[in-house]
Amino acid sequence: GMPAPPPRSTTARRPTRQLRVGAVGVGSDHPVSVQTMTTTVTADVDATLQQIAEVTAAGCDIVRVAVPSGDDARALPHLVRKSPVPVVADIHFQPRYVFAAIDAGCAAVRVNPGNIRRFDDKVAEIARAAADAAVPIRIGVNAGSLDPRQRVLYRTAPAEALVASALSECALFEEHGFRDLKLSVKHHDPVVTIDAYRILAERCDYPLHLGVTEAGPAMQGTVKSATAFGVLLREGIGDTIRVSLTEHPVEQVKVGCAILEALGLRPRRLEIVSCPSCGRAQVEVRELAARVSAAFDGFPVPLRVAVMGCVVNGPGEAREADIGVSAGNGKGQIFVRGEVTRTVPEHRIVEALIEEAQELLDASGGA
Ligand code: SF4
Repeated sequence: GMPAPPPRSTTARRPTRQLRVGAVGVGSDHPVSVQTMTTTVTADVDATLQQIAEVTAAGCDIVRVAVPSGDDARALPHLVRKSPVPVVADIHFQPRYVFAAIDAGCAAVRVNPGNIRRFDDKVAEIARAAADAAVPIRIGVNAGSLDPRQRVLYRTAPAEALVASALSECALFEEHGFRDLKLSVKHHDPVVTIDAYRILAERCDYPLHLGVTEAGPAMQGTVKSATAFGVLLREGIGDTIRVSLTEHPVEQVKVGCAILEALGLRPRRLEIVSCPSCGRAQVEVRELAARVSAAFDGFPVPLRVAVMGCVVNGPGEAREADIGVSAGNGKGQIFVRGEVTRTVPEHRIVEALIEEAQELLDASGGA
């Protein structure tokens, strides 16, 4: 089989209540799940299902769809029936869409507390309908949906204000005996996000949905999310994550999965261990690493593949990789677990790596 990863300590999860979002368990008894939100018009059932299929293939466990109109609400039963992953309805203003989402069989509903407050009389009814259907509710607080009573506090202590806002919204549901809640307190600043979730984790036992809001374009959003999630998840805080990037949802899911993989919270799919290159490099490492990544995308078992720019340090430095290549002099030294197995011309490197990987796979008894 594949070599074991290097030994390291495990992360103890913060104990939480447990929820079921359709077939996916959310809470400390369950693996941290990855979710995203579709960017299609929800009422366009075919386009939305197509995107749901794409994010599912990328590793998404739960998908959320926005429900801003009656047409979107009417699409929900069709989406729920055909989606391979649980569908969460995201509802901002209309309590009646909450009931429509529950009737449609949605696995959970996200409500915007700043808005639902205006429908205080509706909370009891929502709690009853959700309890009857065993549908959990996410309360998602961010600066835009802050409880107006927390605005002053927000100026000096934003993390405290987000938490106070979330807990007062919880109380509205708790009053009616409803506790199938998960909470998020997102902020665009990763440090505020970390502080807010740490405080929230102390003050309740609800499962937490991690997110950094408006995280931004790919690079910035990835760094912000990885920074905040890395700190929190390593402390055992966080039960489901959503990476918000101004990018296709597939990219958000890939980043979310990669963060969990980096923290040892999800089995690895593919890890490319490539050197940064230096003056010794005899190949375009960046270009070769990109070609290797593309060729191994979707390989059926997890692999660590090393791409090294020269033969000086190649196999030795990458001994913990399953397979790898050190390039030099128009050739590639192919190695398997630190031992050189053959040397091939540069244009055959990717092909040779795939062959070696296939041999490893066959030797380990298939996928
Ligand atoms: Fe430089 Fe070679 Fe190390 Fe890459 S493997 S960083 S090319 S010494």
